[in-house]
Amino acid sequence: MYWGKILHIDVSKRKSRVQRVSKKWLKKYVGGVCMASRLAYDNIPKGADPLGPENAVCFANSAFSGTMVPVGTKYAVAHKSPLTGFLGDCLAGSYFAAAFKRAGYDGIVIKGKSDSPIWVFVDDDMVSFEDASDLMGLETFETEEAIRAKVGDQRVRVCTVGPGGERLVRFANLTNDRGRQAGRTGPGASLGAKLVKALAIRGTHSVKVADPENLLKVCKKLGELAQTTKTEKYRILGTPANVLAMNRLGVLPTRNYQNGEFEGAEKISGEVLHERHTEKAVACVGCPIGCEQVARVREGIYEGARTSIDYESLFALGPNCGIAYLPGIIEAIHRCDRWGIDTMSTGVTISWAMECYQRDILTKDDFDGLEPEWGNHEAVVELVRRIAYREGIGDLLAEGTKRAADKVGKGSEHFAMNVKGLECAGYDGRGFQTFSLGCAVGTRGPCHNRSLAYEPDAKGKVDRLSAGPERGMLAKEAEEFAGVLDIMMFCKFIRGCFDDMWTDAPEIWKYSTGFDMTSEELHQLTERSWNLKKSFNIREGWTREDDWVPPRWLKDPLPSKGSKGAVIKPEDMRMMLDAYYEAREWTPEGLIPKKKLIALGLDDIAEDIGV
Ligand code: SF4
Repeated sequence: MYWGKILHIDVSKRKSRVQRVSKKWLKKYVGGVCMASRLAYDNIPKGADPLGPENAVCFANSAFSGTMVPVGTKYAVAHKSPLTGFLGDCLAGSYFAAAFKRAGYDGIVIKGKSDSPIWVFVDDDMVSFEDASDLMGLETFETEEAIRAKVGDQRVRVCTVGPGGERLVRFANLTNDRGRQAGRTGPGASLGAKLVKALAIRGTHSVKVADPENLLKVCKKLGELAQTTKTEKYRILGTPANVLAMNRLGVLPTRNYQNGEFEGAEKISGEVLHERHTEKAVACVGCPIGCEQVARVREGIYEGARTSIDYESLFALGPNCGIAYLPGIIEAIHRCDRWGIDTMSTGVTISWAMECYQRDILTKDDFDGLEPEWGNHEAVVELVRRIAYREGIGDLLAEGTKRAADKVGKGSEHFAMNVKGLECAGYDGRGFQTFSLGCAVGTRGPCHNRSLAYEPDAKGKVDRLSAGPERGMLAKEAEEFAGVLDIMMFCKFIRGCFDDMWTDAPEIWKYSTGFDMTSEELHQLTERSWNLKKSFNIREGWTREDDWVPPRWLKDPLPSKGSKGAVIKPEDMRMMLDAYYEAREWTPEGLIPKKKLIALGLDDIAEDIGV
C-alpha cells in the first residue's frame, strides 16, 4: 500500500514537512531503489559535498512493507556516496521497514547538518529532534537498545550509525534490527556527517491492502514455493555455500585477487561453518526462507563472537586476506557489524594494505608494529578496529582502496580492487567476464546485487573466460532482472520461486496497491530506474572512463586451476562496453539521448543531462 506522503526532515533547522505525492508519481517510481533514486535526484544538488549538509539521505519503502507479502518488507536508501562521489543505493529489510510503513510514509528525506549530535524520532505524525550526546560512541546494537529504553517501547525500530559512521569512515553502514545492514557506498558516513546518530520510528497505523483475498492466495503459493528445493541452498547453508563452488571455478578472490583458488577453502566452507559454528538460522520479518546463518565462536581467543555470516563478508575477510580460520573471520565480521562498517569494503581495503606489506610498500612501522602477513587473523581483527575508529593506519584505510592507493602510490594503484571507488565483490571478473562488464558499468560500482551478470557465467550459458558482444545485452538484462527485485523490494533469494517475474510481480503489486501494471510497463520501470541512477552520475560528471575494471584484471592472468590464464583484454572490455551502451540505447560515449529519457517519462532530466 501507499500513503502518498514523503516526509522531509531538515536537521539544520530542526523542522519537518510532508510532501504529498500523486498516484501518478507513485506508479511511476513505485518504491525501493527507483523511488529512492528519484528522491536523491530531486533533493541533492549537483556537486554537493557527500559529507556536507547539502547531501540528502533518502529512504524509500517497499509497497509491500508490513503486508503479508513474503520477503517484501524492505527499504532502500539513496545518497551521494562519500566513497564514489556518485549515487549510492543500498537496501535493508525487516522490522524497521514495517515501522516506517506503519508511521504513514512512503519516503523520508533527511537533509542539513545538526549543530550537535541528535537522533531523530518519527513517532507517527510527530517528528522530534532528541539529544544524542549520551549515545555517541555506542555500537550499533547498543544504540538500538538505548533508544528503545529511552522511549520505553519495544515497538520503536531504529536505523543507526555506529562508531564508523560517526568517524565518517567512507564505507560506513546504516544498521537496523540488530544486524540488517544498508551497506556498500557509505550511507552511514552520509548520515553521520549530519551529526545524526539514528533515525527511530514508531508506527502504529494499520497497513491495508487493496485485494486481501487474492493477495493471500498468491502469497500463500509464493510462501510454499519458498519452502521447497528452490531456496534450499539459502535455508540450509546460506550463501556461504558458494565458497567451494567459487573455489572450484577459480574465481574465489584470494590474497587481494592475486589468485582465484584458496588452499584453505575446505576449512572455511559453508559446510564447516554450518557444522561448527552455526547457532541458528534467522529470518527477516515475514520471510519464509530464513537465510541468515548466525554463527558463534564457542571457544578460544574469539569466544563469544556472534554474528550472521554471508558469502560476501566471508570471502572479503577470509580468503581475500589469506585467512583459513573461521573464528578469526567471525570475529572480524562481528566487529564490522557492531561498529557499523561494510564488511566487503573493509576486507578488500585490508587485503590491499596486506599486499602493500607483502611488497614492502608499507612497512611494520606504518602499521605501528603490526605484521599483517597473509593469514594473520589477529592483525586483520585489529585493523578492523583501527578503521572503525580511524586510528593510525586505520585513518588511511577508512578512506577506501582508491583514495588510499592514490595517496600511497608506488604501484599500489595496480592492485586497488575497486571500480568507481567501491571495492569489488566476491567473484573474480577475469573468470566471470560477463560479470566483469556488469562491474564496469554498475552505477554504484562493482556489485553482485545490482547486476546478476554472474549468472550466465556461473551457469555455463556463455564461455565465462572470454568476452563477446552479446554480453552487452546480457548485462543489461541481468541489471533489469535485479532491478525488478530492487524496486518491488523482493529479496533476491526468492527469485527462483516466480513462474514469470515479469507477470507475477505486477500481479502481487496490483493486489497490494490497487494499481495496474503490465509486464511491458514493468520493463519500462526497470529501465527508468537504471537511467535515473545513471543520470544522477552523469550530472556529477561521469564519463566513459569511469566504466572500467581494476588494472589487475586487465594485466595479471589468473593462476587458479579453474580459470587458469584468464585475463580481460582491454580491447574486449571496450567492445563489451560498446555493446552494452548500444543495448541501453545510449550514445557510444555512454551518455543518454534526450529522446530516450523522454520516452521513459523523465522529461525534466532530459533537459538537465540528455544529449
Ligand atoms: S531470504 Fe534472508 S535476506 Fe532474504 S528476506 Fe529472508 S532472511 Fe532476509
